[in-house]
Amino acid sequence: MGILEWLVDRGYSGIAFKLVYEHESQSGSMEDVERYDVVALKDNVTPKRFTWVTYSTRWKPMTYSVQNETDIDHVAYREALEALGGIRDRPSWYVKRVQEEERRTYIDKELAGLYPTCPDCEQQMVIRHRKRDHAPFFGCKSFPECTGTRSVDSTSLRRIMSLLDEKSRLTMR
Ligand SMILES: [Zn+2]
Repeated sequence: MGILEWLVDRGYSGIAFKLVYEHESQSGSMEDVERYDVVALKDNVTPKRFTWVTYSTRWKPMTYSVQNETDIDHVAYREALEALGGIRDRPSWYVKRVQEEERRTYIDKELAGLYPTCPDCEQQMVIRHRKRDHAPFFGCKSFPECTGTRSVDSTSLRRIMSLLDEKSRLTMR
C-alpha cells in the first residue's frame, strides 16, 4: 500500500508529500525507514503537517505511521502544497475504487436478499454443495451446529453465482 491510499483510507484529503529521507537504519538494526514530509486536510477541514513513515525489516511486515502531526493555518498549508508539488489525491485509482466500493455495497445488499433464512435457527443461509453429486443447496451458516437446509431454485442460483463472480473480480479492497 502506498502513502496516498493509506492516507485517503484514514480520512485525509488535499494531500501533498515529498520523500525526505529513506533507508535510514533505526538504532543499529537493519530496519529500512522511509519518511515523507506531508501536508493534508484531516476530515476535509483541518490543515495538518506531519511526517508519514514506513518501516520494514526482513522479519516483520511493513508498518506505517503518522508522526508529529500538528495543526497549521491555511496560509501555511497553501505554501506547503506548492513546495511539495501540489495535491496528489485525485488519481484515477481513487475514482475507480470509489466506484468499486459502491458496486460492492450494492452486490452485498442484493445477495443478502437472495439468501433465505434458516428454517431451524433463522440465520442467513449460504450456498453449499452436496458431497455425493455436488448439487447446490442452501445450508445454514452455523453448520455443523445447525443442519437446516433449503432447496435452491436455478434462477436464484444463477444470480448468486454471477454476483459472487463479479465480486471476486472487483480487484481493489
Ligand atoms: Zn440454522
